[in-house]
Amino acid sequence: MVDRQIKNLTIDAERLWDNLMLTAKIGATPKGGICRLTLTEFDREARDWFKAQAQALGCTVTVDDMGSMFARRPGQRADIPPIAMGSHLDTQPTGGKFDGALGVLAALEALHTLHRAGYETFAPIEVVNWTNEEGARFAPSMIASGVFAGVYGRDWACARADRGGETFGGALDKIGYRGAQRCGEHRLSAFFELHIEQGPYLEAEGKDIGIVTGVQAMRWYEMTIIGQDTHAGTTPMPRRHDALLGAARVVESVNRSARQFPSAVGTVGILEVKPGSPNVVPGEVFLTMDLRDPDAAVIDRIEQEIAAQARGIGRELGLEIAIKTISSEPAVQFDAGCVAAVRTAAKISGYSARDMISRAGHDAAFVSRVAPAAMIFVPCKDGISHNEAEYSSKEQCAAGAQVLLQAVLDYDRRLAERLGSE
Ligand SMILES: [Zn+2]
Repeated sequence: MVDRQIKNLTIDAERLWDNLMLTAKIGATPKGGICRLTLTEFDREARDWFKAQAQALGCTVTVDDMGSMFARRPGQRADIPPIAMGSHLDTQPTGGKFDGALGVLAALEALHTLHRAGYETFAPIEVVNWTNEEGARFAPSMIASGVFAGVYGRDWACARADRGGETFGGALDKIGYRGAQRCGEHRLSAFFELHIEQGPYLEAEGKDIGIVTGVQAMRWYEMTIIGQDTHAGTTPMPRRHDALLGAARVVESVNRSARQFPSAVGTVGILEVKPGSPNVVPGEVFLTMDLRDPDAAVIDRIEQEIAAQARGIGRELGLEIAIKTISSEPAVQFDAGCVAAVRTAAKISGYSARDMISRAGHDAAFVSRVAPAAMIFVPCKDGISHNEAEYSSKEQCAAGAQVLLQAVLDYDRRLAERLGSE
């Protein structure tokens, strides 16, 4: 009986799509994207819309002191923490219509579906809008879920300033979204996040759903290469200590070392050359390095190889090369029970699916430190994201929303079996 009820709940693909297109107008860019930076007037407008929609479905909306919003639909048991689903409503400056918004609006659509069917869940169900996932206005990204999970301190987070000098805390007050609840005190039974893949794998393999089992590890480094500034006309080639030549070889080494492992990626994203004159041999270069792999041990090996090659480059060219690790995010393994719920949901909904890891950071990665969590991916065209051309079809969005709803219901059913007789 329960199984049949769950199978009969179908989300409304048209309404989900209409809501995606409607909210995309808040901060719309001429090229079809969205510029809705966190805690701006546009963000406030999107938040107000979300709050009104949730309240119209009978939900109670609470806001924590980092501005994250929780819209709760009661279940049979008020004493059990809610099963939550959601993502973020902020975007990059030239963001697309789906990154973040899909996860929140699909969750809202799931609530609509439960509401319409009069379906009573065992645990309360919540939709969450996490503040500042993107980190485009206030660095770092995922700041609110980071405080929620105890990774960042609240005061430190509220003191982050944008380029105009306005603080995160000040911006929260300005749009009226500094809530009364202390961030992190809001307990969750589980958290599910639907997101576009932001990569090419699902589309390339013709799969509908990505069952996300974890998030890859990431490490950031800064490297300083010191040589000698000398006259570009009078210094013979054998006498040079050219820091930029050393940097060029390091960039090549990062690429080559990462390529030895099929799942690893390595990037040099910033290169600053000093003194920066056409007729001076560069005496100093600063560069950044970003290494990622699902397995931190692989990053260790790449790091060791690059360090060894940098020593060789330094010896050969007469350069001092210093490498400093500036951040290290461990790999995340999502909760087996939540991943199983997503797998079951994809199967009973009739969608093709594959297991995968997330290549980007997401709120669910931080939330997983304090509550069982998992993610669902849907394909996006050409794997393009953080771009105004970002696109997933109506059917792809609907498939994700359907799996999200079914995963939450599957988890709820298992929670009821475990705790129902208490
Ligand atoms: Zn996102």
